Amino acid sequence: MFDKNSQENIQLMIDLHNDVNEDALLLIAHYYLKEVKAKKTEIKHISPELISLIIETDEEKKIQQIEFPEKVKDSVEVSNFFYSCLSKARADAPEDYPKTRLEKLIEKTLNLDTYITRVKNKREISSNIIEITFKGGLQNLPNLKNDAFMYFIVNSDIEHKYPEGFSMNDFRAINTKDENPYTAAYYTIRSIRENEIDVWFVLHDHPGPLAIWAEEAKVNSEVAIWGPRTTFTPPLDTNNYIFIADETAQPAALAAIENLNKDENFICLFETQNETTKFEYGDPEHRIEWIYRNDQPAGEGTELLKRIKQLDVNSEKLYVFGAGEARQISTIRKTLKKNLDLNVDQMSFTGYWRKTS
Ligand SMILES: Cc1cc2nc3c(=O)[nH]c(=O)nc-3n(C[C@H](O)[C@H](O)[C@H](O)COP(=O)(O)OP(=O)(O)OC[C@H]3O[C@@H](n4cnc5c(N)ncnc54)[C@H](O)[C@@H]3O)c2cc1C
Repeated sequence: MFDKNSQENIQLMIDLHNDVNEDALLLIAHYYLKEVKAKKTEIKHISPELISLIIETDEEKKIQQIEFPEKVKDSVEVSNFFYSCLSKARADAPEDYPKTRLEKLIEKTLNLDTYITRVKNKREISSNIIEITFKGGLQNLPNLKNDAFMYFIVNSDIEHKYPEGFSMNDFRAINTKDENPYTAAYYTIRSIRENEIDVWFVLHDHPGPLAIWAEEAKVNSEVAIWGPRTTFTPPLDTNNYIFIADETAQPAALAAIENLNKDENFICLFETQNETTKFEYGDPEHRIEWIYRNDQPAGEGTELLKRIKQLDVNSEKLYVFGAGEARQISTIRKTLKKNLDLNVDQMSFTGYWRKTS
């Protein structure tokens, strides 16, 4: 049996792959399992011993199992094995077999750079969001716009100076050791200027190393950042958008909204705790709809989903961007996919954090 945490992560993984990575599952069915007639594949179940898949051909629906070489302990081992199956399937696939969405995402991580930059300024955006401006070392940082996000590697010592040439590879190497002073998490570039970026850090109720670092950081504190990447990829003919975000994804949604053409329509639903965590934003037409959790903790708000179920939108030329707590976002993705009959290209839903306490 997996522990509760892994079980939940694995269920989220199954839902995500079945919802948006059907092409990757089909590649695995065709060239890992040699089920060349498969038309549709779904993950049915994952146990510490095996992954069980439903394979559908024109003639039948059957169960196929992929056994792990040895019992797996947690969701990380499951995920690593899944990616190894995908890469073995790719190695056996013909050259013209189309790249899957997942492979395209993985490709984006190759050749990313690490930048060392410093805190220039801090200011309060709301009672639970702090903006940090970083300056220096960013001359070559590409401006990907929209939800561009980076991996922030921080040291528990706020005065820490990174060794010359420190990179993501160094972090990966140190990360396997027991004594590791570094921790990392993804954050979004709220705004970018010449050699300078603004980032909004949510100060949450159970602050982990990143939220603590953001609170403690002083002018000149150093951080290493790796990236950038984006998931916001609307089809070219999109002219209507829905943005759904809790505090962590509000910088991403706002950066994408600010990059839309004037004639493009959007609906924006921002979930936040209450009046004090709402921030002022030049929005004369009141296009941002604020939804309060009030007494409900972050990640457990129910009002947002209620509002989403009421949405009555024409899904033609529509693109939906949603991010926030992983379980909440998984439910929202399933609801909107079904209610609006969205196809995979029309949506980007990401669990930005997972509630564990
Ligand atoms: C692509 C991407 C972009 C992101 N962009 C941003 C961003 O711009 N700004 C931002 O603030 N976050 C952003 N996040 C989310 C951020 O990476 C996580 O919230 C991260 O877990 C924070 O790390 P931590 O060290 O503070 O807490 P952790 O050590 O990861 O967690 C400690 C505890 O806090 C809880 N927790 C974590 N995050 C939150 C939260 N936001 N609210 C309530 N409880 C929480 C966890 O469940 C856990 O119990 C992004 C994530 C992704 C994947």
